[in-house]
Amino acid sequence: MAASGESDVVKIEFPFTPYPTQIKFMVKAYQLLQEGGFGVFQSPTGTGKTLMIVCTALQWLRDNEMSVLKQQLVREPSTAAEANAAQPAKSAPLPLWLTQSKATREQEELQAWVNERLERLQQRKTRAAIIKTQSKQTMFPVGLPGPAAKKQKVTQEPAAAAAAGGGGSASASVSARPAAIDLEFLLNSICSTSGEEEHLRAETSRFTKPQILICSRTHEQLKQYKEEILRTSHAAKVVVVPLASRQQLCINQEVRSAAHSASHLTDLCRTKVDEGKCQYKKSSSRTADLALSEVLDIEDLKRWGSKESVCSCPYFGTREAAPDADVLLLPYNCILSRDTREALGIRIKGSVIVFDEAHNLIEAINSSHSCTITQSQLAGCRQDLEAYLVQYEKWLKGNNSANLKIFIKMCDHLHTLIQTETDNHTEGRSHTIARFLQDAQLEHFPLNDLRDWIRDPLFLRKLRGFSECRRRKLARQAGGPNAQYASSSLHTLVEFLSGLLAGTSDERILVWPGGSGSGVEGRLEIMNLNAEERFHDIVKDARAVLLAGGTMEPRREFAPLSSSLPAEKIVHFSGTHVVPPSQVFVSTVTNGPDGHPWKFDYASRSQDATLRNLTAFIASLCAAVPAGLVVFVPSFDFLAHLDTYIKSHPAVSSEIAKHKRVFVEQRAGARGGAGGGKAGSDGDELPLFRDFRQYVLGTDGRARRGALLFSVVGGKLSEGMNFKDDLARGVCVVGCPYPRKDLKIRQKMNFLDTAASRARREGEGDAQQRITGREYYQCLCMKAVNQCVGRAIRSRSDYGAILLIDSRYGVGATQQQLPEWIQKSLTLTIGQDTTQATMATALPSPLEAFFRRMQSTSRSN
Ligand code: SF4
Repeated sequence: MAASGESDVVKIEFPFTPYPTQIKFMVKAYQLLQEGGFGVFQSPTGTGKTLMIVCTALQWLRDNEMSVLKQQLVREPSTAAEANAAQPAKSAPLPLWLTQSKATREQEELQAWVNERLERLQQRKTRAAIIKTQSKQTMFPVGLPGPAAKKQKVTQEPAAAAAAGGGGSASASVSARPAAIDLEFLLNSICSTSGEEEHLRAETSRFTKPQILICSRTHEQLKQYKEEILRTSHAAKVVVVPLASRQQLCINQEVRSAAHSASHLTDLCRTKVDEGKCQYKKSSSRTADLALSEVLDIEDLKRWGSKESVCSCPYFGTREAAPDADVLLLPYNCILSRDTREALGIRIKGSVIVFDEAHNLIEAINSSHSCTITQSQLAGCRQDLEAYLVQYEKWLKGNNSANLKIFIKMCDHLHTLIQTETDNHTEGRSHTIARFLQDAQLEHFPLNDLRDWIRDPLFLRKLRGFSECRRRKLARQAGGPNAQYASSSLHTLVEFLSGLLAGTSDERILVWPGGSGSGVEGRLEIMNLNAEERFHDIVKDARAVLLAGGTMEPRREFAPLSSSLPAEKIVHFSGTHVVPPSQVFVSTVTNGPDGHPWKFDYASRSQDATLRNLTAFIASLCAAVPAGLVVFVPSFDFLAHLDTYIKSHPAVSSEIAKHKRVFVEQRAGARGGAGGGKAGSDGDELPLFRDFRQYVLGTDGRARRGALLFSVVGGKLSEGMNFKDDLARGVCVVGCPYPRKDLKIRQKMNFLDTAASRARREGEGDAQQRITGREYYQCLCMKAVNQCVGRAIRSRSDYGAILLIDSRYGVGATQQQLPEWIQKSLTLTIGQDTTQATMATALPSPLEAFFRRMQSTSRSN
């Protein structure tokens, strides 16, 4: 039964009685959607954030769809003639009967549009029912109807017509048929449609359906949205379509196995489609039918599309379905780049856009506008282009031959630029685009013409075919690995060149040297510095943009994204935890057992005295904290020192071993690395985490035991892992994990400082919202800390301790960058006064008391 999140402002259907913090979240979010604007919403893990977003957005759509459509009747005139026509002379107001007649006509037009959409959806449902029924029967392979099938078409016609007119009885009439029939014929008798027609209809329609776009980082997270939508009372009526790239949705195995990069897969698909050789493309409307008839995720659609009887491309199917959807579920990479948005037909104008897991949104915006090419890719391109030139020069037209030569020269120049940095042992160099072209001696190259020439699909395909063939031959001769690598390099070079030409003064080209012996390749990277500018279109055109996350502090980082909006259009919400503050023990630990202030900076953290103090403290925590204790440290180097120290000091290791077994995260790429094995993909469990979980929970058939897990801030275990209940009764963050100020970070800081001081100097309205380089750097650190501490409390019944170990956590300004619910629990601060008791005697005692209290409370519940 549905309960309601009700206030005097709004009523939102919710599957159960919401907590007060959930009501506050939903009311505020509803207001944002209603009034439009930009919101940053923080709601800790375990508070039902996904369900709150779903219920709010679907309720808003249900309440407001018609009024939003009606607003479109009063649209802005798009031409001067329309403007004049819409501007009647002041002296001659329209008579009332004419105004009323116009209003009536427009209402009828809108109603007709709504009815047409409903009818279209009903037809899609009927088609989907037929597809599902027929998938259980033997079918002729699609695209290969034999003579018998053709004959069947004729004999089946009356039954097909019955299905078309039969509405809800479609599946019954279909199941009564002989097994082998022509499915396409049957579907067309109900409604024949194509992706092009659907897009044309959406483009030319007077009305644009308001849509909710829900974006998240992974398909696993988007799948959760599908599941939460199914829990709501809206599930039966709402149309939800998942979108993704070809890389995720392509089901043509031949294409998938031949492709060695996303861009290569796109290219192979285009070739197949142009040549009419992908059997899945021809019937892509079938996956559109399925997507529009029930709530499915991309895995469901791939399964359906791959069935022999359905044989339908989910990529083109979902694109076809998208204009009719109420909700689109899509990963970040489908929306952040304008090119990708346009390729997928995603409409921003008037939409409500939710970015979930938005704490890394700025990095995602930047990386979606970045591109990297390595030295070996450049060398591969050069070899292939030269071999092509040698082989075909006498047949090539003059233009092609000249362009190939220029391209080869360009590869040489770029290669040399990287090599110079390597030879000079620099840490890399940053250039503006103009300076880069100058330093690479490319300023006189006809780059625009070259880009257009190489992007010709036919020529690119020929080059790629040649290069693959050549590399395979070479590999066969040498008995080495095959040659697919170099062919993808050509795509990367084209992408790099396109990025260079599309770049603005906000882009930097970073030239990274190769690290001799370290295996790090020299490379060129286009780096975007101005996420705000790239995000501007989204904020400008969308009705509302909502950034949501479990830990969105420090939220100041997001201020530039909304700098084009007036202050009253910007909303912040920080929800309390559903867990009461009494279930969370938070403490800063500013001083070591010897009473000295603790500062785990780069210079002092590996010193013997620091390690001695820290390991003694950790040993005391092992005794005080039950079950799982997770200790995050700033870097793998520091973790290696710590691990070695413990192993080489039997007194410490035996003290720890009395209470906990030690698990240590390994650097990615190291033997057993990435969390102790192959990096988990979307939804996989990391082997180290699995072993730790089994040990603590006793799911390996043995009793529950205590364990200490050392992990690195920013590593695989610091984000997205669910350390619920006994898995993390204690979470410690040792030191402030400021990232190394490398070339990239310095560029970004300089850029922000310049923009902030220009805004102040010129009195720009958004000057207050701009962050400085220093603030950005602080944000990077605290964002990482907040991700780590967010691992501790995962549900209402959970409880645990969070310890922030460094004197810098004792500063008020730092504490203000913690999530509000943690700040509220920050009641006990140890060692502020260095003359007081050291933490070794001051902390474990209240900690033990806390756990005794919590354990007795949970026993009595
Ligand atoms: S049409 Fe679809 S299935 Fe065919 S190659 Fe392209 S993405 Fe893959």
